[in-house]
Amino acid sequence: MPGSLYIHIPFCVKRCIYCDFVSGVYDPAKADACIKALQKELAGIPEGTALSTLYIGGGTPTVLPAGMLAELISRIFSRFRFMEDYEATIEANPGTLDREKAGLIRSSGINRISIGVQSFNRAELEFLGRIHSPGEAEQAVRIARDAGFDNTGIDLIYGIPGQDMDSWKKTLRKAVSLMPEHISTYELTVEKGTVLYEQLNAATPRAENRFRLPEEATVIEMYEYTIDYLKSEGFIHYEISNFAVPGWQCRHNLNYWDRGEYYGVGPGAHSFLSGKRYCNTPVLDEYIRAVSESGRPACNAEDITGDRALSEAVFLGLRKTEGLCLESLARLYRQNILSRYSKEISTLEDAGLVEIVSVACSYETSLRLTRKGLLLSNEVFEKFM
Ligand code: SF4
Repeated sequence: MPGSLYIHIPFCVKRCIYCDFVSGVYDPAKADACIKALQKELAGIPEGTALSTLYIGGGTPTVLPAGMLAELISRIFSRFRFMEDYEATIEANPGTLDREKAGLIRSSGINRISIGVQSFNRAELEFLGRIHSPGEAEQAVRIARDAGFDNTGIDLIYGIPGQDMDSWKKTLRKAVSLMPEHISTYELTVEKGTVLYEQLNAATPRAENRFRLPEEATVIEMYEYTIDYLKSEGFIHYEISNFAVPGWQCRHNLNYWDRGEYYGVGPGAHSFLSGKRYCNTPVLDEYIRAVSESGRPACNAEDITGDRALSEAVFLGLRKTEGLCLESLARLYRQNILSRYSKEISTLEDAGLVEIVSVACSYETSLRLTRKGLLLSNEVFEKFM
Protein backbone atom coordinates (compact mmCIF):
# COMPACT_ATOMS: atom_id res chain seq x y z
CA MET A 1 0.00 0.00 0.00
CA PRO A 2 1.41 3.43 -0.88
CA GLY A 3 2.21 5.38 2.24
CA SER A 4 2.39 8.90 3.58
CA LEU A 5 5.37 11.01 4.50
CA TYR A 6 5.45 14.00 6.85
CA ILE A 7 8.43 16.37 6.96
CA HIS A 8 8.75 18.80 9.86
CA ILE A 9 10.50 22.13 9.30
CA PRO A 10 11.01 23.59 12.80
CA PHE A 11 11.55 27.28 12.00
CA CYS A 12 9.38 30.40 11.91
CA VAL A 13 10.09 34.11 11.46
CA LYS A 14 8.93 34.62 15.05
CA ARG A 15 6.83 32.75 17.58
CA CYS A 16 3.08 33.42 17.68
CA ILE A 17 1.88 33.84 21.26
CA TYR A 18 -0.42 30.79 21.22
CA CYS A 19 1.95 28.37 19.54
CA ASP A 20 3.16 25.16 21.15
CA PHE A 21 4.42 23.47 17.98
CA VAL A 22 8.01 22.28 17.67
CA SER A 23 9.51 25.39 16.17
CA GLY A 24 12.04 28.13 16.88
CA VAL A 25 13.09 31.38 15.30
CA TYR A 26 14.72 30.90 11.89
CA ASP A 27 18.50 30.77 11.99
CA PRO A 28 20.29 30.15 8.64
CA ALA A 29 23.11 28.02 10.10
CA LYS A 30 20.70 25.89 12.15
CA ALA A 31 18.36 25.53 9.18
CA ASP A 32 21.24 24.35 7.04
CA ALA A 33 22.25 21.73 9.63
CA CYS A 34 18.62 20.68 10.09
CA ILE A 35 18.01 20.19 6.37
CA LYS A 36 21.20 18.11 6.11
CA ALA A 37 19.96 15.97 9.02
CA LEU A 38 16.52 15.66 7.39
CA GLN A 39 18.16 14.40 4.20
CA LYS A 40 20.10 11.85 6.22
CA GLU A 41 17.00 10.69 8.05
CA LEU A 42 15.14 10.42 4.74
CA ALA A 43 17.93 8.19 3.44
CA GLY A 44 16.89 5.67 6.11
CA ILE A 45 13.55 5.16 4.36
CA PRO A 46 13.96 2.57 1.58
CA GLU A 47 14.54 4.21 -1.78
CA GLY A 48 11.59 3.82 -4.15
CA THR A 49 9.04 3.59 -1.32
CA ALA A 50 5.61 4.23 -2.82
CA LEU A 51 3.92 7.36 -1.51
CA SER A 52 0.45 8.70 -2.10
CA THR A 53 0.72 11.74 0.14
CA LEU A 54 3.45 14.08 1.32
CA TYR A 55 2.99 16.87 3.85
CA ILE A 56 5.66 19.46 4.58
CA GLY A 57 4.62 21.22 7.76
CA GLY A 58 6.09 23.06 10.69
CA GLY A 59 6.88 25.55 11.87
CA THR A 60 6.86 27.49 8.65
CA PRO A 61 8.37 25.55 5.75
CA THR A 62 8.20 28.66 3.57
CA VAL A 63 10.59 30.51 5.90
CA LEU A 64 13.39 28.56 4.18
CA PRO A 65 15.08 30.19 1.20
CA ALA A 66 13.40 29.21 -2.08
CA GLY A 67 16.43 27.33 -3.40
CA MET A 68 16.86 25.26 -0.23
CA LEU A 69 13.20 24.35 -0.21
CA ALA A 70 13.12 23.44 -3.90
CA GLU A 71 16.19 21.24 -3.50
CA LEU A 72 14.69 19.40 -0.53
CA ILE A 73 11.46 18.82 -2.44
CA SER A 74 13.18 17.61 -5.58
CA ARG A 75 15.30 15.16 -3.53
CA ILE A 76 12.12 13.77 -1.99
CA PHE A 77 10.53 13.35 -5.42
CA SER A 78 13.59 11.66 -6.85
CA ARG A 79 14.03 9.29 -3.89
CA PHE A 80 10.45 8.04 -3.60
CA ARG A 81 7.88 6.69 -6.02
CA PHE A 82 4.84 8.95 -6.03
CA MET A 83 1.48 7.60 -7.16
CA GLU A 84 0.05 9.26 -10.22
CA ASP A 85 -2.71 10.95 -8.23
CA TYR A 86 -0.45 11.92 -5.31
CA GLU A 87 -1.23 14.80 -2.97
CA ALA A 88 1.77 16.84 -1.78
CA THR A 89 1.05 19.70 0.63
CA ILE A 90 3.18 22.49 1.97
CA GLU A 91 2.19 24.80 4.81
CA ALA A 92 2.83 28.46 4.12
CA ASN A 93 2.75 31.56 6.27
CA PRO A 94 1.49 34.55 4.24
CA GLY A 95 4.42 36.63 5.49
CA THR A 96 6.91 34.28 3.84
CA LEU A 97 5.39 33.56 0.45
CA ASP A 98 6.41 35.52 -2.61
CA ARG A 99 5.85 34.79 -6.30
CA GLU A 100 9.28 33.31 -6.87
CA LYS A 101 9.02 30.92 -3.94
CA ALA A 102 5.46 29.85 -4.75
CA GLY A 103 6.44 29.22 -8.37
CA LEU A 104 9.49 27.13 -7.40
CA ILE A 105 7.51 25.09 -4.89
CA ARG A 106 4.75 24.39 -7.40
CA SER A 107 7.12 23.49 -10.20
CA SER A 108 9.08 21.14 -7.94
CA GLY A 109 5.99 18.94 -7.57
CA ILE A 110 4.02 20.25 -4.58
CA ASN A 111 0.38 20.41 -5.65
CA ARG A 112 -1.44 21.57 -2.50
CA ILE A 113 -0.80 24.58 -0.29
CA SER A 114 -2.21 25.24 3.15
CA ILE A 115 -2.02 28.90 4.04
CA GLY A 116 -2.00 29.94 7.71
CA VAL A 117 -4.24 32.99 7.42
CA GLN A 118 -5.84 32.64 10.91
CA SER A 119 -7.89 35.85 10.61
CA PHE A 120 -8.70 38.66 8.22
CA ASN A 121 -8.92 41.12 11.09
CA ARG A 122 -5.81 43.23 11.69
CA ALA A 123 -6.23 43.56 15.49
CA GLU A 124 -6.74 39.81 15.86
CA LEU A 125 -3.63 39.04 13.80
CA GLU A 126 -1.63 41.46 15.91
CA PHE A 127 -2.96 39.94 19.11
CA LEU A 128 -1.91 36.46 17.95
CA GLY A 129 1.57 37.72 17.09
CA ARG A 130 1.22 36.85 13.41
CA ILE A 131 3.77 38.42 11.06
CA HIS A 132 1.30 39.32 8.30
CA SER A 133 -1.58 41.68 7.68
CA PRO A 134 -5.03 40.72 6.34
CA GLY A 135 -4.01 42.16 2.96
CA GLU A 136 -0.87 40.01 2.85
CA ALA A 137 -2.93 36.94 3.71
CA GLU A 138 -5.27 37.68 0.82
CA GLN A 139 -2.32 38.33 -1.45
CA ALA A 140 -0.75 34.97 -0.46
CA VAL A 141 -3.85 33.13 -1.63
CA ARG A 142 -3.70 34.99 -4.96
CA ILE A 143 0.03 34.27 -5.30
CA ALA A 144 -0.65 30.57 -4.73
CA ARG A 145 -3.35 30.57 -7.40
CA ASP A 146 -1.14 32.41 -9.88
CA ALA A 147 1.64 29.89 -9.23
CA GLY A 148 -0.71 27.13 -10.37
CA PHE A 149 -2.00 25.72 -7.09
CA ASP A 150 -5.50 24.44 -7.80
CA ASN A 151 -5.73 22.89 -4.34
CA THR A 152 -5.45 25.67 -1.79
CA GLY A 153 -6.40 25.57 1.87
CA ILE A 154 -6.92 28.37 4.35
CA ASP A 155 -6.47 27.88 8.11
CA LEU A 156 -8.47 30.09 10.47
CA ILE A 157 -8.71 30.54 14.25
CA TYR A 158 -11.80 31.51 16.24
CA GLY A 159 -12.23 32.29 19.92
CA ILE A 160 -9.58 35.02 19.86
CA PRO A 161 -9.75 37.63 22.67
CA GLY A 162 -11.54 40.68 21.32
CA GLN A 163 -13.15 38.72 18.48
CA ASP A 164 -16.93 38.82 18.26
CA MET A 165 -19.44 37.04 16.04
CA ASP A 166 -19.44 39.87 13.57
CA SER A 167 -15.70 39.79 13.08
CA TRP A 168 -15.65 35.97 12.78
CA LYS A 169 -18.40 36.11 10.17
CA LYS A 170 -16.40 38.67 8.20
CA THR A 171 -13.28 36.48 8.33
CA LEU A 172 -15.23 33.44 7.14
CA ARG A 173 -16.89 35.41 4.35
CA LYS A 174 -13.58 36.79 3.20
CA ALA A 175 -12.07 33.29 3.20
CA VAL A 176 -14.93 31.90 1.12
CA SER A 177 -14.71 34.80 -1.33
CA LEU A 178 -11.14 33.72 -2.16
CA MET A 179 -12.57 30.36 -3.32
CA PRO A 180 -10.22 27.95 -1.56
CA GLU A 181 -10.78 24.21 -1.94
CA HIS A 182 -10.29 23.67 1.79
CA ILE A 183 -10.89 25.57 5.02
CA SER A 184 -9.75 24.50 8.48
CA THR A 185 -11.13 26.32 11.51
CA TYR A 186 -9.54 25.82 14.92
CA GLU A 187 -10.63 27.12 18.28
CA LEU A 188 -7.86 29.07 19.99
CA THR A 189 -6.58 26.91 22.82
CA VAL A 190 -4.36 28.08 25.64
CA GLU A 191 -1.51 25.61 26.00
CA LYS A 192 0.88 25.57 28.94
CA GLY A 193 4.29 26.97 28.10
CA THR A 194 2.99 29.48 25.56
CA VAL A 195 3.21 33.24 25.91
CA LEU A 196 -0.59 33.35 25.82
CA TYR A 197 -0.77 31.01 28.82
CA GLU A 198 1.71 33.16 30.76
CA GLN A 199 -0.19 36.33 29.94
CA LEU A 200 -3.53 34.85 30.99
CA ASN A 201 -2.18 33.42 34.21
CA ALA A 202 0.14 36.20 35.33
CA ALA A 203 -0.49 37.21 38.95
CA THR A 204 -0.12 40.88 38.07
CA PRO A 205 -0.69 41.22 34.34
CA ARG A 206 0.61 44.28 32.55
CA ALA A 207 -2.10 46.64 31.38
CA GLU A 208 -1.79 45.56 27.74
CA ASN A 209 -2.15 41.89 28.74
CA ARG A 210 -5.47 42.30 30.56
CA PHE A 211 -7.66 40.53 28.07
CA ARG A 212 -10.25 37.80 28.31
CA LEU A 213 -11.06 34.88 26.09
CA PRO A 214 -14.56 35.08 24.57
CA GLU A 215 -17.36 33.46 26.60
CA GLU A 216 -17.86 29.74 25.98
CA ALA A 217 -21.33 30.39 24.55
CA THR A 218 -19.85 32.76 21.96
CA VAL A 219 -17.20 30.22 20.96
CA ILE A 220 -19.88 27.56 20.51
CA GLU A 221 -21.94 29.97 18.44
CA MET A 222 -18.89 30.65 16.26
CA TYR A 223 -18.34 26.94 15.63
CA GLU A 224 -22.01 26.27 14.89
CA TYR A 225 -22.18 29.24 12.57
CA THR A 226 -19.07 27.98 10.78
CA ILE A 227 -20.65 24.59 10.10
CA ASP A 228 -23.90 26.07 8.81
CA TYR A 229 -22.30 28.83 6.79
CA LEU A 230 -19.62 26.73 5.10
CA LYS A 231 -22.17 24.01 4.29
CA SER A 232 -24.43 26.64 2.75
CA GLU A 233 -21.47 27.70 0.60
CA GLY A 234 -21.05 24.15 -0.74
CA PHE A 235 -18.32 22.85 1.56
CA ILE A 236 -18.48 19.37 3.06
CA HIS A 237 -17.87 19.27 6.80
CA TYR A 238 -15.75 16.12 6.82
CA GLU A 239 -13.86 16.36 10.11
CA ILE A 240 -14.49 18.25 13.35
CA SER A 241 -12.39 21.24 12.21
CA ASN A 242 -12.14 20.64 8.46
CA PHE A 243 -14.26 21.62 5.49
CA ALA A 244 -13.65 20.99 1.81
CA VAL A 245 -15.21 21.48 -1.57
CA PRO A 246 -16.40 17.94 -2.51
CA GLY A 247 -13.44 15.89 -3.67
CA TRP A 248 -10.82 18.17 -2.10
CA GLN A 249 -10.59 16.67 1.39
CA CYS A 250 -7.01 16.48 2.67
CA ARG A 251 -6.00 12.88 2.00
CA HIS A 252 -2.86 13.11 4.11
CA ASN A 253 -4.85 13.99 7.21
CA LEU A 254 -7.58 11.45 6.40
CA ASN A 255 -4.85 8.82 6.59
CA TYR A 256 -4.13 9.87 10.20
CA TRP A 257 -7.80 9.64 11.15
CA ASP A 258 -8.05 6.26 9.43
CA ARG A 259 -5.05 5.14 11.47
CA GLY A 260 -3.04 4.49 8.34
CA GLU A 261 0.72 4.11 8.35
CA TYR A 262 3.06 7.05 7.78
CA TYR A 263 6.66 8.09 7.99
CA GLY A 264 7.53 11.26 9.90
CA VAL A 265 10.89 12.98 9.46
CA GLY A 266 12.33 15.91 11.40
CA PRO A 267 12.43 17.05 15.02
CA GLY A 268 9.26 16.15 16.91
CA ALA A 269 7.89 14.16 13.96
CA HIS A 270 6.01 10.92 14.56
CA SER A 271 5.94 7.79 12.44
CA PHE A 272 3.43 4.96 12.60
CA LEU A 273 4.64 1.73 11.04
CA SER A 274 3.66 -1.92 11.63
CA GLY A 275 1.71 -1.10 14.79
CA LYS A 276 4.57 0.90 16.31
CA ARG A 277 4.61 4.64 16.92
CA TYR A 278 7.96 6.39 16.79
CA CYS A 279 8.41 9.88 18.15
CA ASN A 280 11.51 11.88 17.23
CA THR A 281 13.08 14.12 19.84
CA PRO A 282 11.61 17.64 19.59
CA VAL A 283 14.93 19.22 20.64
CA LEU A 284 16.54 20.51 17.46
CA ASP A 285 20.19 20.23 18.59
CA GLU A 286 19.63 16.71 19.87
CA TYR A 287 17.92 15.77 16.64
CA ILE A 288 20.75 17.14 14.51
CA ARG A 289 23.44 15.49 16.67
CA ALA A 290 21.77 12.07 16.72
CA VAL A 291 21.11 12.00 12.98
CA SER A 292 24.62 13.22 12.14
CA GLU A 293 26.20 10.59 14.37
CA SER A 294 24.04 7.58 13.59
CA GLY A 295 21.82 8.48 10.65
CA ARG A 296 18.81 8.05 12.94
CA PRO A 297 17.10 10.53 15.23
CA ALA A 298 16.80 9.96 18.96
CA CYS A 299 13.27 8.67 19.31
CA ASN A 300 10.86 6.77 21.49
CA ALA A 301 9.13 3.74 20.06
CA GLU A 302 5.92 2.31 21.42
CA ASP A 303 3.98 -0.79 20.42
CA ILE A 304 0.31 -0.01 20.01
CA THR A 305 -1.58 -3.26 19.88
CA GLY A 306 -4.74 -4.96 21.16
CA ASP A 307 -7.16 -2.77 23.06
CA ARG A 308 -5.03 0.35 22.64
CA ALA A 309 -5.03 -0.04 18.89
CA LEU A 310 -8.79 -0.45 18.85
CA SER A 311 -9.38 2.52 21.14
CA GLU A 312 -7.14 4.68 18.91
CA ALA A 313 -9.05 3.57 15.83
CA VAL A 314 -12.31 4.57 17.52
CA PHE A 315 -11.38 8.03 18.76
CA LEU A 316 -9.43 8.93 15.63
CA GLY A 317 -12.18 7.68 13.31
CA LEU A 318 -14.88 9.51 15.25
CA ARG A 319 -13.20 12.78 14.30
CA LYS A 320 -14.58 12.26 10.78
CA THR A 321 -18.17 13.37 10.47
CA GLU A 322 -19.07 10.21 8.54
CA GLY A 323 -17.96 8.34 11.66
CA LEU A 324 -16.65 4.84 12.00
CA CYS A 325 -17.68 2.08 9.67
CA LEU A 326 -18.45 -0.61 12.22
CA GLU A 327 -18.22 -3.60 9.86
CA SER A 328 -14.85 -2.57 8.42
CA LEU A 329 -13.49 -1.92 11.89
CA ALA A 330 -14.69 -5.32 13.10
CA ARG A 331 -12.94 -6.99 10.15
CA LEU A 332 -9.72 -5.06 10.77
CA TYR A 333 -9.52 -5.40 14.55
CA ARG A 334 -11.46 -8.66 14.94
CA GLN A 335 -13.71 -7.14 17.55
CA ASN A 336 -17.30 -6.00 17.53
CA ILE A 337 -17.17 -2.37 18.60
CA LEU A 338 -20.79 -2.31 19.73
CA SER A 339 -20.20 -5.14 22.21
CA ARG A 340 -16.67 -4.12 23.22
CA TYR A 341 -17.83 -0.59 24.07
CA SER A 342 -21.51 -1.31 24.74
CA LYS A 343 -21.61 0.60 28.06
CA GLU A 344 -19.74 3.63 26.74
CA ILE A 345 -21.77 3.82 23.53
CA SER A 346 -25.12 3.54 25.28
CA THR A 347 -24.15 6.29 27.79
CA LEU A 348 -23.08 8.52 24.90
CA GLU A 349 -26.24 7.73 22.93
CA ASP A 350 -28.39 8.60 25.95
CA ALA A 351 -26.54 11.90 26.25
CA GLY A 352 -27.22 12.57 22.56
CA LEU A 353 -23.53 12.70 21.70
CA VAL A 354 -23.23 9.77 19.26
CA GLU A 355 -25.60 7.94 16.95
CA ILE A 356 -25.60 4.75 14.94
CA VAL A 357 -26.76 5.18 11.37
CA SER A 358 -26.95 3.06 8.22
CA VAL A 359 -24.73 4.15 5.38
CA ALA A 360 -27.04 3.71 2.43
CA CYS A 361 -24.43 3.46 -0.31
CA SER A 362 -22.30 0.77 1.32
CA TYR A 363 -24.87 -1.26 3.29
CA GLU A 364 -22.73 -0.67 6.35
CA THR A 365 -23.37 0.88 9.73
CA SER A 366 -21.63 3.89 11.11
CA LEU A 367 -21.07 5.21 14.63
CA ARG A 368 -20.73 8.97 14.46
CA LEU A 369 -20.83 12.14 16.48
CA THR A 370 -24.13 14.00 16.56
CA ARG A 371 -24.19 17.76 16.21
CA LYS A 372 -24.04 17.99 20.01
CA GLY A 373 -21.21 15.43 19.98
CA LEU A 374 -19.22 17.64 17.61
CA LEU A 375 -19.36 20.39 20.22
CA LEU A 376 -18.33 18.05 23.03
CA SER A 377 -16.01 15.74 21.10
CA ASN A 378 -13.34 15.61 23.81
CA GLU A 379 -15.89 14.23 26.27
CA VAL A 380 -16.75 11.53 23.76
CA PHE A 381 -13.13 10.59 23.04
CA GLU A 382 -12.33 10.29 26.75
CA LYS A 383 -14.80 7.42 27.00
CA PHE A 384 -12.73 5.37 24.55
CA MET A 385 -9.28 6.21 25.92
S1 SF4 B 1 3.71 30.46 12.33
FE1 SF4 B 1 2.68 28.58 13.01
S2 SF4 B 1 4.29 27.23 13.76
FE2 SF4 B 1 5.16 29.30 13.58
S3 SF4 B 1 4.97 30.18 15.60
FE3 SF4 B 1 3.15 30.81 14.44
S4 SF4 B 1 1.63 29.22 14.88
FE4 SF4 B 1 3.62 28.42 15.50
